[in-house]
Amino acid sequence: MKSPCRFLLAFAVIGGACRPTRPADLVVKNTAVYTMAAPAKADAIAVRDGEIVYLGDNAGSDAYIGDSTRVYDLGGRMVLPGFVDTHVHPRGGLSLTECQFDAIGSAQAIVDSVARCAANAPEKPWIRGRGWALPVFPNANPHRRLLDAVVSDRGVYLSAADGHSAWVNSKALQLAGITKATADPPKGRIERDPATGEPTGTLRESAMDLVGRLLPEPTLAERKQGLARALRLANEFGIVSVHDASVDPGFMAAYAELDREGELTTRVIAAQYVDYQSDVSAVVDSLVAWRDRYPGTRYFRPTAAKFFADGVIEAKTAALLEPYLESGGTTGDANFRQGQFDSLATRLDRAGIQIHIHAIGDRGIRMGLDAIAAAARANGPPKAPPIMAHIQLFDPEDIPRFKTLGVVASFQPLWAFADEYITDLTEPVLGPARSRWLYPIGSMVKSGATVAAGSDWTVSSLNPLEAIQVALTRRAPTDSAGPAWIPEEVVSLQTMLEAYTINGASASGDRARSGTLEVGKAADLIVIDRDLFAIPVTEIAKARVLLTLLDGRAVFTSRELR
Ligand SMILES: [Zn+2]
Repeated sequence: MKSPCRFLLAFAVIGGACRPTRPADLVVKNTAVYTMAAPAKADAIAVRDGEIVYLGDNAGSDAYIGDSTRVYDLGGRMVLPGFVDTHVHPRGGLSLTECQFDAIGSAQAIVDSVARCAANAPEKPWIRGRGWALPVFPNANPHRRLLDAVVSDRGVYLSAADGHSAWVNSKALQLAGITKATADPPKGRIERDPATGEPTGTLRESAMDLVGRLLPEPTLAERKQGLARALRLANEFGIVSVHDASVDPGFMAAYAELDREGELTTRVIAAQYVDYQSDVSAVVDSLVAWRDRYPGTRYFRPTAAKFFADGVIEAKTAALLEPYLESGGTTGDANFRQGQFDSLATRLDRAGIQIHIHAIGDRGIRMGLDAIAAAARANGPPKAPPIMAHIQLFDPEDIPRFKTLGVVASFQPLWAFADEYITDLTEPVLGPARSRWLYPIGSMVKSGATVAAGSDWTVSSLNPLEAIQVALTRRAPTDSAGPAWIPEEVVSLQTMLEAYTINGASASGDRARSGTLEVGKAADLIVIDRDLFAIPVTEIAKARVLLTLLDGRAVFTSRELR
């Protein structure tokens, strides 16, 4: 009789049965394991030395349990591959110590919060804050006088939740030398009083830098702390891999050090920020130098470049094919001329750098696709798949181009419902016909493109489960009833889980080792407190991650499992 262990070196016949020669480090059993591969489900999973060594029924997992094995017996829970966030800003970890306005719904409450922050930090030369929501203010246009009433001796710089506008006080304008006579910088706008021409205190896009450049630069230690804090927060939501969608050399250095010190708790692909003024050769050289300088690092990969094709619709800075309604015919500004965009994308792609594009308006999206097409004509298929993120407003003719060009569609599904950004600041400037093509996740899935997902944190919540629920309901994460917004674009739970796992791994070039649960792959996995397939969709956002493993290492363990 043939030994049942004949072909398996790590097994031996022990007590008449084939058993692994070494026990697993971790076994999770009596649970619903969804693999995102074939077979699709298992009851138990075992992990050893950072790798998945077993997937199957509960009885089979017993053979992997030794004296030192950590065993979780988890009836009714769910195991999934760890989540990949394909567009996030971990540098936001630095701003967690600033004044925060997320979810503050009135101008006065924000101003009160600024007053408290100023009172608590008398030594700080600047009062900084982030997260004010554009719809809180008429025309998304807060006035400096509101801030002057509480802080007049120091500069105040408050970035909007979407990062595309800043609200400053009069002192900040004065320190920056911004007056009625100051011209708008290229690709930026100083909001002004229509009667007097005086700056009102809201700065858009590149105009933010006129004040932003006066703010003290964070130290390397502060950058490291900020990134580490953000990635630990990501781990709490089951995220094991991120695409940092805009780093400068200071953050590159911070990531590299964290990785060397073994302090990175997610895989990181870092995209260096490239703007329309960038010298193409210098950008390519610097990125290639970063990549080659850190070939041996474990989790940090400085291998991508980030472009902003345009701005945002709410501030009328997104590039549209047809004019904004009620805006004197403007179509918004793209940040590049097409030829410039094509040549940057082509040069970076040729050097093996992954292209990551912020594109919001239908013209911004088209220009990004055209630049990627130009690179493919010149260089052939890209080594790393290009990513387009946000992708808010489409000309439907551009949807099939994602598959044709091999572009990863990175949606931020949490945005795909009718909040005030949509009802007050987006639909009125587009009209109903164009508004039908906002966040067409379902159409993109049907087109066969690789659909991935991301948070754009700190712009919005880092929690993938909230975003997944919205993609399934097209309603606010807190709404359990009511009509879906653009119901044609609703997608399934399986689709969204694939977007956050296997498709995210594709975007990272990690499919061979991560993104699915298969024997031999890295143990990047999470345990969720309930089986998402067994509950009403409106409860998905309430589910909690209990355990997050990166390469088999617990980077987050909830109190319940400790
Ligand atoms: Zn972003």
